[in-house]
Amino acid sequence: MHLRTSHLLLAGAAAAALALTGCGKEGTPAAAGGASDACAGSGVTFTPAKPDVSGSPTFDKISGAGAVKVGVKADQPNLGYKDTSGKRCGFDIEMAQLVAAGLGVDPAKIQYTEIPSANRESALQGGQIDYYVGTYSITDERKQKVSFAGPYFVAGQDLLVREDESAITGKDTLKGKKVCSATGSTPIQKVRDEGLTEPSNIVEFKTYSECVSQLLDKKVDAVTTDDAILKGFAARSPEQLKVVGKPFSEEKYGIGLPKGDTAFTKAVSDVLQKSFDDGTWQKVYDGTLGKSGSPATPPKLDS
Ligand code: GLU
Repeated sequence: MHLRTSHLLLAGAAAAALALTGCGKEGTPAAAGGASDACAGSGVTFTPAKPDVSGSPTFDKISGAGAVKVGVKADQPNLGYKDTSGKRCGFDIEMAQLVAAGLGVDPAKIQYTEIPSANRESALQGGQIDYYVGTYSITDERKQKVSFAGPYFVAGQDLLVREDESAITGKDTLKGKKVCSATGSTPIQKVRDEGLTEPSNIVEFKTYSECVSQLLDKKVDAVTTDDAILKGFAARSPEQLKVVGKPFSEEKYGIGLPKGDTAFTKAVSDVLQKSFDDGTWQKVYDGTLGKSGSPATPPKLDS
């Protein structure tokens, strides 16, 4: 009893500290539920390679600058996250570092830009970033505007609900329920295309963490996106939230690349394949997303 009380007091103090300091940095919200948000990595170090790449304007730009601009997410625990001290961590962040090193750039020289789901194509098309790593599903529609290397992971669309929810048990139980997802994402598209709930019950925000806050505040009934993302949020608020656990799509995560730079796409694909083959991918996965997700092995790259 005494232990439990002091634990709760500590948690409350941590939440208060987060509330005071957590919201100031580039609009990144504090961890939903007030769990400790300190970043930890897999411990893998990424040593810059000396790749031989010719005919790639993007590669020439990166190697000339000795730096790379990478688009990421910052509010997705164990995937793309920035803690209140400003440290970044997660599977996608380490994949971004692995790719940088494979292209010969010191990961410390990565310039991160936080780009929400809806703005990924335009950021790549406008040259604001050299590549994007952030739960970015490879789709034919997106391939009209950008290129992809991957997949480097396969997720599935699922549902996050409050712990005491009993009516929402799968995608066909959403009618009449308020469902939240991110603008410009494949999951919100699926909710619309399949009419999983009424248009007036679809709530959208730029980021999933905003949806999770709405769920905790009982303003929406479910958050839908990839299980990999939802499991990270559920792990932070295990007493309040749960993942339904019946995935209903296949989301193949790719590294988003400028369209048409085929030599660059090949170079990034080669970096991924090498990490699959030499065990690096596995170490990174197990030390990041594997902590809130399920065991996984490297997927097969698209040809
Ligand atoms: N993987 C999905 C997508 O690319 C959902 C996650 C996200 O929005 O990043 O749209």
